[in-house]
Amino acid sequence: MIIQAWIRFQGYCGWLSGVLCVLISVGAFAKEIKTNEIVMPNAPDWLKQTRVEQVTNRIQHKLEWSTRRVHAIWYTSQEEFEKVHTLGPFAAAVAKVGAQGSSIHLGPGVDQENFDAVFGHELVHIVIGQKYKDAIPKWLEEGLANHLANRGKVDYAWLAKQPFPDDVRDLAHPFRGSAAGISYRYKASQALAEMLSKRCELENLIRLSVQRKMENYIQTYCGIADLNKAFREWVQKKK
Ligand SMILES: [Zn+2]
Repeated sequence: MIIQAWIRFQGYCGWLSGVLCVLISVGAFAKEIKTNEIVMPNAPDWLKQTRVEQVTNRIQHKLEWSTRRVHAIWYTSQEEFEKVHTLGPFAAAVAKVGAQGSSIHLGPGVDQENFDAVFGHELVHIVIGQKYKDAIPKWLEEGLANHLANRGKVDYAWLAKQPFPDDVRDLAHPFRGSAAGISYRYKASQALAEMLSKRCELENLIRLSVQRKMENYIQTYCGIADLNKAFREWVQKKK
């Protein structure tokens, strides 16, 4: 019912001022969800507290961490959502960890179907920011977040047909540019996470990496001397 009202209101957002539009959004999404870790002031009607807890617990368990308080904010206006980040129109949600605390911003594309995967993905970023800082290499972070949050499968046949990057370490942020380019970076990063998971037990690798650079362990613990060569072979094998 509330959602329907919002859909009707959305038609007016083109000419209403941004502020008014946000006020209407907040009014339509006024249900607060609060767990030990998450404060979500404007959750949509279909979302239940237990679902938020389940996703949070799964990611915390995998990364062995109790998340410090996260504010999770929903946006029904794409325009308002894009004002809080710089990742451009293809980002579905964004996580921020800073001196002011941690927050997750959920764009209009997040829905009942993809919530667990998207929210789980952003929580991985939060835990990396709170616990691992810069120990996890940037080229792995997006893929790791996808992998741990079960966000879709890698299409290895497609990946094998794309030109290989000169160096997979270049797959790091910023994730900008064409949709195809961004998609490649995410999928290649996820393929790298899957490769590490197969080669050396990802959980142990992550555990070793608290306050120490993971890149060193990829050589010593996983026995991968040449990351690019290993990646090419992995994609060829899996395609
Ligand atoms: Zn991400």
